[in-house]
Amino acid sequence: MKELLRANIANLIPYSCARNDFVGEAEVYLDANENWRDFVGDQGRNRYPDPLSTHIRRALAEVLDLPFANTVIGNGSDELIDNLFRCFCNPGKDRTIIMSPTYGAYRVFADINDVGIDQVPLTSGFAIDFEALQAFLEKEKLERKEGRCKLLFICSPNNPSGNAYPLEQIERVCTLFDGITVVDEAYFDFSSYESAVTLLSRFPNLVVLRTLSKCWALANARVGIAVASKDVCAVLTSMKYPYNVGGPSQELALKALAQGAQVEATKKETLAERARMAAALSGLACVVKVFPSDSNFLLVRVTDANKLYQYLAQRGIIVRNRSRELHCENCLRITVGSRGENDTLLSALKLYKE
Ligand code: PMP
Repeated sequence: MKELLRANIANLIPYSCARNDFVGEAEVYLDANENWRDFVGDQGRNRYPDPLSTHIRRALAEVLDLPFANTVIGNGSDELIDNLFRCFCNPGKDRTIIMSPTYGAYRVFADINDVGIDQVPLTSGFAIDFEALQAFLEKEKLERKEGRCKLLFICSPNNPSGNAYPLEQIERVCTLFDGITVVDEAYFDFSSYESAVTLLSRFPNLVVLRTLSKCWALANARVGIAVASKDVCAVLTSMKYPYNVGGPSQELALKALAQGAQVEATKKETLAERARMAAALSGLACVVKVFPSDSNFLLVRVTDANKLYQYLAQRGIIVRNRSRELHCENCLRITVGSRGENDTLLSALKLYKE
């Protein structure tokens, strides 16, 4: 891992904040230039939060069975994606591999960090194209000069296609690629596949991303999780904003993680609704195909996505038009909502005339 790091990050002397210097309980805190008065409800909002999100990581270890020492909390997993680019990719030199169609933020963060993108598209059935990947990686290795491919993103289950990849495929990518393989498991909880976390002990260059934004119903709080080797975690911790997750968000995360039974029940409802919606949508005249989903959304090919998107929007129903993505011609991405929300969508679609 060390040889993949940017030199400035490898040599970084991290910012040392007051909350890092003293760990424990004290009577008087005069170390962080905070206000001694809390104007907004006496909940310690005048104090800086725990920079290491320790309580969340403990709860994650217990509830999600993640190894405490191998976790870093981000301001959403988006922050962690951005930070991975900043840790490993020299701007203007290093590159990343993206398998389109996939989560759009990988490309955006690569662009922001001036990191080149190499596309190894998924097949038209949204499978990893191993033949193309292997050929690309062999060529890339031979042609390396100043920079190289440092990061490869696998989104499993994949946004927008919805399908997850079996563990042996993730393992195969980790074996083929000699950079950092990032497996984004934002929608993992909705799938029945095994997590890539189980591969961590064998592949120290693997980073698995999770989030509380989806199944844990906490998108508003912005809490993402990286699970990685201790070395990668140490690097991600050293370069992140010192107080990257606010106190209220840390408290909300703990509350959500204590609601395991309710979350599980809602997940079951969502999965039942996913099956019901897939069946109902398949029977509509405007629907060409509903793609199989391991997520809390469905990718649906329709007769005319632009027209249908406008039709729904005019009725106050917003879905995501993914038509311009590779292999997604005339496709809408539809989140599985509550039963009532899903019925509203179905009723509108039944009234739709070509
Ligand atoms: N990964 C994927 C695949 C996503 O779809 C999203 C958000 N839609 C994210 C990561 C970002 O999640 P977060 O809210 O944790 O930043």
